[in-house]
Amino acid sequence: MYVMTGDAGIFVVDPSVSPNRAGDYCGIRGLAEGECNVRAILLTHGHYDHIKYVDKWMELYPDAEVFFSSNDKALLGNGYANCSYMDGLQLTYGFSFTDVAGMNGNSIISEAGVEITVLETPGHTKGSVCYLSSSSGEDILFTGDTVFQGSVGRTDLPGGSSRVLADSVRRISRMAPELRIYPGHGPDSTIGDELKYNPFFTL
Ligand SMILES: [Zn+2]
Repeated sequence: MYVMTGDAGIFVVDPSVSPNRAGDYCGIRGLAEGECNVRAILLTHGHYDHIKYVDKWMELYPDAEVFFSSNDKALLGNGYANCSYMDGLQLTYGFSFTDVAGMNGNSIISEAGVEITVLETPGHTKGSVCYLSSSSGEDILFTGDTVFQGSVGRTDLPGGSSRVLADSVRRISRMAPELRIYPGHGPDSTIGDELKYNPFFTL
């Protein structure tokens, strides 16, 4: 999970942590009390460990816009498909969202100097997306479970496809080498470092 702050408000990427804990961890005053301007919640895909606390965030921040691909919609209503069963749970989700399916390359936010663009990167799941954020001339890419430092997401879960993932990774590998990436798990990296060290970037 990432919390991005700026003039356009707060952007939460993959809320796997409750607002309470996020407030403590980030040190953002009022975050746990619903006193901040949470502009949007960006979901990279429908797995439980990425959408876990969407409902809690929406209770506190009902005006926040949730971005999600309907290509992962089947995961929301099925505890096996969203992998909550791995934690011994059978959780389903019914939040409403702005659909980013079919929005590949499109800007979804453009305000107060922040531009957020969707990249559709299926393979880990059908509806996996990355979000490219541009702010003050700095670009960063949230890659969800599509690309990790030194690796890529697993493709053996429902909707996964190694062939489709390879195509998504190939498109990401052609982005600017200096582009910093923030994966859904593990440390951040750059496209250039992944080109050097990530075996999946040479497919
Ligand atoms: Zn996942």
